[in-house]
Amino acid sequence: MEQPLAEASATDGGMEVPAVPAEDLAAVVSNLAKVQDTLKAAMAARPATPQDGRVAPPEQVRLVAVSKLKAAEMLVAAYEAGQRHFGENYVQEVLEKAPRLPQDVHWHFIGHLQSNKVNVLVKGCPGLVCVETVDTEKLAHALNKAVQARGLPGKLRVMVQVNTSSEESKSGVTPDGCLELCTLIFKDCDALELAGLMTIGAPDYSGCRTEDFQTLHRCRQEVAVALDLEPSSLELSMGMSNDYEQAIIEGSSSVRVGSAIFGARPPKSG
Ligand SMILES: *Cc1c(COP(=O)(O)O)cnc(C)c1O
Repeated sequence: MEQPLAEASATDGGMEVPAVPAEDLAAVVSNLAKVQDTLKAAMAARPATPQDGRVAPPEQVRLVAVSKLKAAEMLVAAYEAGQRHFGENYVQEVLEKAPRLPQDVHWHFIGHLQSNKVNVLVKGCPGLVCVETVDTEKLAHALNKAVQARGLPGKLRVMVQVNTSSEESKSGVTPDGCLELCTLIFKDCDALELAGLMTIGAPDYSGCRTEDFQTLHRCRQEVAVALDLEPSSLELSMGMSNDYEQAIIEGSSSVRVGSAIFGARPPKSG
């Protein structure tokens, strides 16, 4: 049972990090299995023929385990149960965690990203596979430069975040502004690959709000037509703990599930 990555207590820069109780680690593993089952059931429940001229649903739906504010040991427990995609919201936190996880972890950055933090993120997290929260030209250009400066082959996949629920508190381009930013990434950012669109949607989704998902579909259709792409080549990242089943039924390609796997988070401080 004594595995270096999952040690009961670790010291971090001189600070004692409290050990994660074994039952919490076991809960991560059982929660993950439940989420995977629910995900498969939702995939099976998708309409066979897509309605309203929509594209056929993706054959695979990616599960991104959102691990912000959770101890690295909990990520290791999920990793050992087979999870490979993890989502993080804070640059400092992903830089601390990435070296504590195996190198084949695929990191998704899903938080608000400031242009001046881009270099340290790209350099410090070699396993970064996608930045899902690009919402300004400035950020797209900064990411493009940082990836070029890294000097490695391959592009960095990015998604444009769309504020489908038009809430002032949320980041993201407006649905009307989506095409312009996608075009800029597609045409002017050689080191970036436009992977798709991402949205968070309304905060208190209660099982019936599908407008936000529909809006993201419409945005994708518009972008695909304008850039002459197959709509299915652009992913839709939508669905979180409280709405990922519905999001999958609505054609999501990638769901970002945090608390349903890792448990409730402490309230954000500051
Ligand atoms: C925190 C977060 C999630 C996960 O939220 P849960 O409700 O815990 O599943 C998903 N996406 C983004 C952008 C987040 O910030």
